[in-house]
Amino acid sequence: MREKEENKMAAIPKKMKALLLTGIETFELREIDTPEPGPGEVLAKVEAVAICGTDPKIVKGAFKGLWPKSYPAIIGHEWAGTIVKVGSETFGFSVGDRVAGEPHKGCGYCRNCMTGRYNICENYGNLESGHRHYGFTAPGAYANILRVQVEQFIIFPINFLLKKPPMSIQQPQPFMGLKGEGLFLEIV
Ligand SMILES: [Zn+2]
Ligand SMILES: [Zn+2]
Repeated sequence: MREKEENKMAAIPKKMKALLLTGIETFELREIDTPEPGPGEVLAKVEAVAICGTDPKIVKGAFKGLWPKSYPAIIGHEWAGTIVKVGSETFGFSVGDRVAGEPHKGCGYCRNCMTGRYNICENYGNLESGHRHYGFTAPGAYANILRVQVEQFIIFPINFLLKKPPMSIQQPQPFMGLKGEGLFLEIV
């Protein structure tokens, strides 16, 4: 099979930083292995990640046993970044594309997925079925790199990521080892 030319150009570190939720209101910034993209997947360098209203509840253990199913876990699902590696059988995306992700990926073949209601996939949480809910049941975006299926991507214009939210939204504040401005955060 043809090796994707663009993959050769990208130097991706073998280790990456990720904010691991290790228990209720406990977390650690750790170096872990950078994932490899499988068929239909890409690696995206996370360049902006926002805190969803759900995230603090997950940190506080409000959905323990479901979100996350077990610890340690990587949460975070409101993100944007740049594709740095493209897996096999992945079409329409290239290294350098700037993208933002929708966190749900249905199994693709249950009754609800077949009618476009993939967010209520009958195989919810069953990773073997192909279902993913990034930042909930599958590793999320509080990390340098996110491994993600391409099906749910939306590609934004390049300038989108360069904009910062107006300072009136909120003052900069540290959150769980991340620093940032407004609603946008940067992995440090
Ligand atoms: Zn959200
Ligand atoms: Zn489904």
